[in-house]
Amino acid sequence: MSTRIIPILNLLSGQLTSKLAADLATQPFPAKGLLTDTLARPLRDLRISVTDRCNFRCSYCMPSEVFNKNYAFLPQTSLLNFEEIARLARIFVAHGVEKIRLTGGEPLLRKNLEVLIEMLAKMTTVAGKPLDITLTTNASLLAKKAQSLKDAGLQRVTVSLDAMDDAIFRRMNDVDFPVADVLRGIEAANKVGLLPIKINMVVKRGTNDREILPMARHFRHTGNVLRLIEYMDVGATNGWRMDEVLPSAQVIESINAEFPVEPIDANYLGETAERWRYADGGGEIGVISSVTQAFCSDCNRARLSTEGKLFLCLFASQGHDLRALLRGNNNEIYSDDQIASAVGHIWHKRDDRYSELRAAMPADAQIGGEKKRVEMSYIGG
Ligand code: SAM
Ligand code: SF4
Ligand code: SF4
Repeated sequence: MSTRIIPILNLLSGQLTSKLAADLATQPFPAKGLLTDTLARPLRDLRISVTDRCNFRCSYCMPSEVFNKNYAFLPQTSLLNFEEIARLARIFVAHGVEKIRLTGGEPLLRKNLEVLIEMLAKMTTVAGKPLDITLTTNASLLAKKAQSLKDAGLQRVTVSLDAMDDAIFRRMNDVDFPVADVLRGIEAANKVGLLPIKINMVVKRGTNDREILPMARHFRHTGNVLRLIEYMDVGATNGWRMDEVLPSAQVIESINAEFPVEPIDANYLGETAERWRYADGGGEIGVISSVTQAFCSDCNRARLSTEGKLFLCLFASQGHDLRALLRGNNNEIYSDDQIASAVGHIWHKRDDRYSELRAAMPADAQIGGEKKRVEMSYIGG
């Protein structure tokens, strides 16, 4: 491996920059091999945002007052192309990533996404196993695309759906999109075998909490796993308030009152959802409690934004500009080994644990208040 020092000065703006550069100068990092961060957390899961655009305007994610015709979405030239994404994916996989989730924005809006999936599906993990490739979608285009996604090598999907009630759902997506079309997408995904399907429901107290039981009722005995997500304070535009968060403990309590549930073990360390199963054999559900029960201690997720910035936490305000290395900088061309070394170094220094820090503070306190957190639609959910 080359030990030439990567001029990483432009990877981060601000005071960390020169420290990173100095660190890289004194400790060049291996280009391959498993990584752990300062809290001994491995790198296992890479979420790749393939577009910052979406055809929905869910109020908790892309409120229409902000994401309107005046909003500056990224220009096409800023986006990583599929070769660039695949090149980075290969580098991350060599560092221990086993699972890749395509997200956004709405990933199915990205043209020819199947081509990228085909490229990723050819990769194998350090242990020689196939990569676990999945995708999170609002399902608006899923009925049309399920078969081609499956054929390209996608293994499974997660579908977001916040209500069974059509009026509530149309209000929440804010573009008048009907529940029936999402259900058609889920049906198509079931039919072609994009399994197991997870159904993500963001629960907002006072908005869709009365939909918890109808959603549970609908997805019991289907094999599809409903996951109820606490409304999070991601980004800087959704006007998040603690009193709109319904703690997962209360969600489980209300489901348990109608359909008794019991806890089950996590599938693997670092799983975001806490798992439960219906006592009558109706299947499994999950709760994701990022607000009331921080799970930073096992967090093994990195996020690659649409324009190639590496984020180490969903609540970060800054990313490391890997696109600058991919595309060359001041006429410098960087090899895979050099980029991999930079990625290794960045993960090695990681100490993010936003949810844990917030849990230790008063309910409505903001951490790093003056810094603007990036939007979830940009960083990838
Ligand atoms: N557009 C796709 C979708 O909605 O499935 C993928 C991107 S979306 C940002 C990924 C996930 O983040 C969705 O399941 C969405 O419900 C969730 N999400 C977005 N904003 C959230 C928030 N404020 N709190 C909790 N979950 C949120
Ligand atoms: Fe779009 Fe998904 Fe965000 Fe809703 S949650 S606005 S569907 S990116
Ligand atoms: Fe991971 Fe950051 Fe979420 Fe903690 S707050 S679980 S570190 S993404």
